[in-house]
Amino acid sequence: MMKLSRQFTVFGSAIFCVVVFSLYLMLDHLQLDHTKSPNGGDRLQNGQLSILQDKIDRLERLLAENNEIIANIRDSVINLKESVKDGRGGPDSGNMSQGPYPDLLVSPPLVLPIDSQDCQFAARQFSKPADGVQLLDVYDLLTFDNPDGGVWKQGFDITYQENEWDSEPLQVYLVPHSHNDPGWLKTFDDYYRDQTQHILNNMVVKLNEDSRRKMIWSEISYFAKWWDNIDNQKRDAVKSLVERGQLEITTGGWVMPDEANSHYFALIDQLLEGHQWLEKNLGVKPQTGWAVDPFGHSPTQAYLLKQAGLANMLIQRVHYSIKKHFASQKTLEFFWRQNWDPASSTDMLCHMMPFYSYDVPHTCGPDPKVCCQFDFKRLPGGRVSCPWRIPPQPITDVNVQQRVQMLLDQYRKKSKLFRTKVLMVPLGDDFRYTEALEWDQQFQNYQKLFDYMNSHPELHVKAQFGTISDYFGALRKSAMDPGHASLSLPVVSGDFFTYADRDDHYWSGYFTSRPFYKRLDRILESHLRGAEILFSLALANIQRAGKPNGFPSVESYRLLTEARRNLGLFQHHDAIAGTGKELVVIDYGTRLFHSILNLKQVMVNSAHWLILKDKNAYSHNPSKAFLQMFKTFVLPKCFSSRSVVIYNPTEQDRMSVVTVYVNTPHVRVDTSHSHPIPAQVSAVWDDATTASTEAFQVRLSGNCFIYYFLISQCVTEVMIRVTKGSVFSEITTTFDHVTHTLRLYNVQGVDGQAVEICNSVDIRGEFNREIAMRLTSDLDSKDRFFTDLNGFQIQPRRTMAKLPLQANFYPMTSMAYLQDSGTRMTLLSAQSLGSASLKSGQLEVIMDRRLNQDDNRGLGQGVLDNKVTSNSFRLLLEKRAKTDNEKPSPLSYPSMLSHVSSLYLNHPLIPMAVSTEAGSLSLTRFSPLASSLPCDIHMVNLRTIQSKVRDEAALILHRKGFDCALSNRNTGLLCATTQGKIRTEKLFSNLRLGSIAAVSLTLMHQTEGGSSQEEISLKPMEISTFRVQLT
Ligand SMILES: [Zn+2]
Repeated sequence: MMKLSRQFTVFGSAIFCVVVFSLYLMLDHLQLDHTKSPNGGDRLQNGQLSILQDKIDRLERLLAENNEIIANIRDSVINLKESVKDGRGGPDSGNMSQGPYPDLLVSPPLVLPIDSQDCQFAARQFSKPADGVQLLDVYDLLTFDNPDGGVWKQGFDITYQENEWDSEPLQVYLVPHSHNDPGWLKTFDDYYRDQTQHILNNMVVKLNEDSRRKMIWSEISYFAKWWDNIDNQKRDAVKSLVERGQLEITTGGWVMPDEANSHYFALIDQLLEGHQWLEKNLGVKPQTGWAVDPFGHSPTQAYLLKQAGLANMLIQRVHYSIKKHFASQKTLEFFWRQNWDPASSTDMLCHMMPFYSYDVPHTCGPDPKVCCQFDFKRLPGGRVSCPWRIPPQPITDVNVQQRVQMLLDQYRKKSKLFRTKVLMVPLGDDFRYTEALEWDQQFQNYQKLFDYMNSHPELHVKAQFGTISDYFGALRKSAMDPGHASLSLPVVSGDFFTYADRDDHYWSGYFTSRPFYKRLDRILESHLRGAEILFSLALANIQRAGKPNGFPSVESYRLLTEARRNLGLFQHHDAIAGTGKELVVIDYGTRLFHSILNLKQVMVNSAHWLILKDKNAYSHNPSKAFLQMFKTFVLPKCFSSRSVVIYNPTEQDRMSVVTVYVNTPHVRVDTSHSHPIPAQVSAVWDDATTASTEAFQVRLSGNCFIYYFLISQCVTEVMIRVTKGSVFSEITTTFDHVTHTLRLYNVQGVDGQAVEICNSVDIRGEFNREIAMRLTSDLDSKDRFFTDLNGFQIQPRRTMAKLPLQANFYPMTSMAYLQDSGTRMTLLSAQSLGSASLKSGQLEVIMDRRLNQDDNRGLGQGVLDNKVTSNSFRLLLEKRAKTDNEKPSPLSYPSMLSHVSSLYLNHPLIPMAVSTEAGSLSLTRFSPLASSLPCDIHMVNLRTIQSKVRDEAALILHRKGFDCALSNRNTGLLCATTQGKIRTEKLFSNLRLGSIAAVSLTLMHQTEGGSSQEEISLKPMEISTFRVQLT
């Protein structure tokens, strides 16, 4: 069967469901009619299409003349730029509004209606606080020369005076912890079975033996699984430990997430899932974040923890040169402030661990040879020992004094790196405390040391086991003590990428590793968000209608919960990072894939109810789905038709192209009112050379050349395929390892503003290779470029010659851009990848990497499980208002068009075909939103919260920061801005907000804010959660 894709333009009304699309014979006639039609077709043809054709013509000419493929993307860029300059960039306004599709098309305003007050936020200059540290400045300052620091190899000699603690003793909090990766060398389930369950079981016994013992736990994914397997008696014992402060839950997320590749939607979701679990089962509210292993740290995570109501956080994996600098300045403890925060509302108290690792040798003080002797799991006769070849000794009456002197010396030296006399020392490592013996070894030996210290006042030390919040409590008391004004802590702004643990070992490869799964993650995210919103709306509608009629709410909620947890699990710092073993990667991939299928089921179930005109006709039959989300929609015979329901998961009215696959080329698309919709049938290519009636090939051969893919071998044969049409035109170029497609949409709307880029990459069969896409422009961007952090904020970057190549790569979660005084070029990405700008005007993005050997970071294997990976992007060129003497600033924001394009790229319209057996039931359009939300407000989620009383939902909104200095003419946007305010009564059209309460991000705390029952009010950049009841 020949497969054909059918792409057509759809105007999605508000959130949901234009019901359209019957498929008929006679497509060719439609297209012919369309182009000849006096009322719209000609204008369409003469307007944007001619520009498009012009571009493609020029492109072909260039290709033919120069025999250089590199021209094709540059040409598109130049063309776009010229058209921006002379004002031809946007669609011919109004040309479709009078066309034959009255219920589909709305004319976007020529100039985006932006409230001028909404432009002030991004126009603000950055002002550094008095005791402020800006990380971009630190990078300028440091030489990154890595001299040998002695026993503290990456630091310096630390000295102290014996009497420094005479007036105020050293307070030591030893914090036992066990780092449990939810998948790395083993799968989540295997780790649980072999290690984690034993750790938690022993914890209950061993903490109960002595009330002075403490423990912290972070990964709720493991904790929840264990909880399901223990009896009530043990659960009560755990609750007592929590109440007595012996066990502290830190962060409380489903996992300890990666902070480079993770999108803020998923970061929030996994935190919410963990916190909801804790609230329901343990009744605790985490106070302190604990992140010892993510490979670099993002201020986004600090912001999210702050919004969730946490007070403190700890980070560990920071570039060794930065650590050394912070240690020398005593800025390892600071208030982490968002770059964009003009005041102090985002300040988060943060502790940065000073040394190389979170294991015992690198946490008691600067000398690992000494500290290792206080890891009593390494006592002689055990399975682990000290690589410095001096083993620990059991503490006895005979040696206690000498051992205390040794340990106290380390404690005192470490303390010299901080401003207060309160010291935190972690005690743990990966999967520690599995056996009862280890608990005894650590806790009994340390208790002897502490007893000695505490009973000798001349030592001026008070040492104890503590949780991390015990420590922060003491720190706050000491630092905020009015008598200690000189101890005030500094304010730090910026991020901690790219991480290096030693020498030139920069951890930038994981920004790209296993890109197939990074893309799969983003697809699951958009499915989850789409399903959550539809399910919440369906549930509210059913409750309103008063008769559920067998709607599968329990089953759907179960599938949603499973998907939340699978997505959450994948945010783990060895999961989305691509740093696990092959079999673990397969386990994650299977979970992601199953959840995508299950979420389609949830969407189909929910949509079924919502679009049915006569709700009395509703019946749920699990074996015969009313709606289908198969890849190919089958039309059984000539003149048959099928209805397709389009779900717009975004919060704005939207004109976008939808792609569906059908089994015949003879198709026409109509609206539900029988008005034809512009559509284009094109071939689906099984491989580069399978012939098609709609496309032709240009064959190039001969000279070797280096294309903008960094393939360091000659490309011997290149296939080029051109598709032209009324809806879109594209050029596909096929190389040995890459199929590269450039696509232009001829639609009036956001999709028509950008060049779409798809790279299908296959480097199987290569050895130790990375494939990159390089965009070359004539922008005078110098050494500056910009990448986003977690899809939430923009971090300005600087390419530095003093750093090695791999250090100049940064994570690109959703976008990267270059700019000069007149133009900005933005690459929007539908997956996380590593990017850099190695030369002025250039932007490179790594597409895939294949490593034949281990990198000595514990994995014990290379990366050889590469898959054919499809990476998607959009390229935007925008005119910038000239600013003279533009100083480098730590602040930058995308344009509104860029924000919305990114939203569309990550959340495409979702087509569902109505089952052929559904008969003649009539369908209705469903538009839950009274109107588009303001352009700058994104509905992050509408997530059902199940409770015994009545189902509620968490409405999570984000007000984006955007730059008005980029041209907002002809953007195709169908929304406005309103200074961050939404009238709640005007939010939904056929549902009412029964109640709305501002709560913390994960619903654990009530919050005070600008919002009320009547009006939601968000500050720029703010993410806020509202507990809502829809009735
Ligand atoms: Zn880890």
